Amino acid sequence: MCGVIGFTGNEQAAPIVLQGLRKLEYRGYDSAGMASTMNGTLYFKKDAGRIDDIDTRLKLCELPGNTAIAHTRWATHGGVTQENAHPHLDCTKQIAVVHNGIVENYQELRQILRVRGHVFTSETDTEVIPHLIEEYLKEGSTLEAAIRLASQRLKGSYALLVISVHTPGKILAIRKDNPLVIGTGNRGFFATSDILSLQDCQKVVFLDDGELAILD
Ligand code: GLU
Repeated sequence: MCGVIGFTGNEQAAPIVLQGLRKLEYRGYDSAGMASTMNGTLYFKKDAGRIDDIDTRLKLCELPGNTAIAHTRWATHGGVTQENAHPHLDCTKQIAVVHNGIVENYQELRQILRVRGHVFTSETDTEVIPHLIEEYLKEGSTLEAAIRLASQRLKGSYALLVISVHTPGKILAIRKDNPLVIGTGNRGFFATSDILSLQDCQKVVFLDDGELAILD
């Protein structure tokens, strides 16, 4: 089915991540997108359709910075639209999340977050995740702690990659009941749902359920 991939290293991440994204195509998908960070700004592009068409239109490969995450979506909650494609962001547009899986209790979480002032821009189950992380950051948590606390609120399955402007150069990865693999190579670090999308990696680590990896 769908997939996630991220890369952080010492060269522009977008072309590398795009190449990895293409290797996830065989799994099937309906939408794709990418987010990156550079100099305190979060960049993102996403749409429904085929990766190559989206790249031709939006130039995914030109997203700046050495840290990027990307997604191929197989819609489970919400139609196949640009708004529902991943990445999904928090209200401040400083945190980006890509997610494989299903958040079973998303309606309840959405309601709680709405009451606390969060504005949702998609119909997906996934979008509660960046808003939950934002809530915990507001309370003073580090990004790592905020992701742990947010993940404890989720019922269902997830392979998650998170980047933020607060943590330049870092990708945080966590999983439950969906695969996530970390690869280390000379060019930098990868996190992906599918080992086939790794490029030039000398070492591969399969994350356990609940384990959080910080690629830096
Ligand atoms: N449940 C999420 C959505 O519908 C993620 C689906 C996926 O794993 O691609 O957007």
